Amino acid sequence: MRFYLEVLLTICLLCVIAVDGIAQVRPDIVQRPIKWDEQREKLSLEYLLQRHGIQTDTARITPKIVVVHWTDVMSVRKTIGVFNPVELPARPNLKKASALNVSSQFVIGRDGSIFQLLPETTFARHTIGLNYCAIGIENIGSARYPLTQAQLEANTALIKYLMAKYPIEFVIGHHEYQVFRGSNWWKETDPNYLTKKTDPGDAFMNQLRLNLGVQGDLVHHLSK
Ligand SMILES: [Zn+2]
Repeated sequence: MRFYLEVLLTICLLCVIAVDGIAQVRPDIVQRPIKWDEQREKLSLEYLLQRHGIQTDTARITPKIVVVHWTDVMSVRKTIGVFNPVELPARPNLKKASALNVSSQFVIGRDGSIFQLLPETTFARHTIGLNYCAIGIENIGSARYPLTQAQLEANTALIKYLMAKYPIEFVIGHHEYQVFRGSNWWKETDPNYLTKKTDPGDAFMNQLRLNLGVQGDLVHHLSK
């Protein structure tokens, strides 16, 4: 009888460990690599030097910030189509700053499906002043089509996974990025190169940070 009880207890214990371990596992991620060639690498190195003032011979980052976005483009396929070309097509303000096209490491669909476009440690242009250390997560959505519950859950799972893997210190929405101006985190050589952003908004970010158990008050955390 005692033997059976011990076996039962061991099984229960293993179940608890297994359930606890699930929170750290890699979520399902579909690989959809965008074009990365010599030209994209060259333009990325130029961006790192000219915009961030960082001289390096490899376009790799150590991720310390996660920036959450929405696309304003309403499908994963179209978004990947926008990010795939190496050079920026036509956004005069951005093009003047660099010919490198915008992109992000991840895109999340309306149903919560996660797509990876670039390795997590590869440089991507998505957030002025912070690209040198930031992973970008784009979500299919807009002001008219706010992000979904499935996207909230997918962002939570993906960022938990990234936080376990890298020394992530901040999880921010793109609309919050200018909070870093004036801090050592901000690296942009032209103080006038700024764009106003509203994605993805306070409601989504507050809920996401609550799910992740990370800082709620970004300004307070920065000033510490
Ligand atoms: Zn954005």
